[in-house]
Amino acid sequence: MKKIKKLLRAPPRGHWVGDGFPVRAVFADMAFTQEISPFLMFDYGGPHDFTPTETRRGVGPHPHRGFETVTIAFQGEIEHADSVGNKDVIGPGDVQWMTAASGIIHEEMHSKNFARHGGALEMAQLWVNLPAKSKMDPPHYQPIVSAEIPVHQLDSDSGNVRVIAGDFLGTQGAATTHTPINLWDIHIHAGKTIDLTVPAEHNTMLFVRTGRLVLNNETLGAADLVIMEQAGQRIQLHAMEACDLLLLGGEPINEPIATRGPFVMNTDQEIRQAIMDYQNGKMGHIAG
Ligand code: MN
Repeated sequence: MKKIKKLLRAPPRGHWVGDGFPVRAVFADMAFTQEISPFLMFDYGGPHDFTPTETRRGVGPHPHRGFETVTIAFQGEIEHADSVGNKDVIGPGDVQWMTAASGIIHEEMHSKNFARHGGALEMAQLWVNLPAKSKMDPPHYQPIVSAEIPVHQLDSDSGNVRVIAGDFLGTQGAATTHTPINLWDIHIHAGKTIDLTVPAEHNTMLFVRTGRLVLNNETLGAADLVIMEQAGQRIQLHAMEACDLLLLGGEPINEPIATRGPFVMNTDQEIRQAIMDYQNGKMGHIAG
């Protein structure tokens, strides 16, 4: 059975990204460290209630280079537009897997429909690193609607796993990844116990979104994160209440991480180049 390496209790309400996303920094000071590679950063937004408005809330055009942003909507709607020409709205259960790679400019806003009606917004954004060999590839975008995400039903009516990326007992995830990654959206029914098997060479983390569960004698609640030891493959979870959680697993990239603001490269020189390229307009612009 895998052991818990670190338990990060629910972070306090954190900061706002633009005026649209009140987020908690789930990885806290583990962000951008090798211990969680290939993941870099994890912002958990909400749930937060917004009043109806005709104004545009969110975060305006900004660049990224050297990694991927993975946005998952749980409640509400998020609208995305980027310099590659993608324009899209995601709603509950949908995922955007955006590969910034050599550079992209995008904006992330509440959808017009959501803004007009108001309500609860709940989302997550993960930053996933790219290996050095892929950092300067052309940018790419995978819109993954909920209906395209394979659902694996767990034995004994214990719940289900939406396989966003990777492989769950032969069910292949919807997203294409650059390095081996499992991103599973897991639902466990109240009172059920489930067993998960993950590769021992992966870094593996569990994030509880709703409910309470027991893992290795620790009781976990909403917005808690556990980082598991690499050794071992089995994880057993007992749901005290109905639970929703995310499993984040991946093969560590094991390359230097240099980061500044929206750029994640391998060296400071590459970061300086990214800033220059952005300032010189080499990451494009959002049409219209
Ligand atoms: Mn962004």
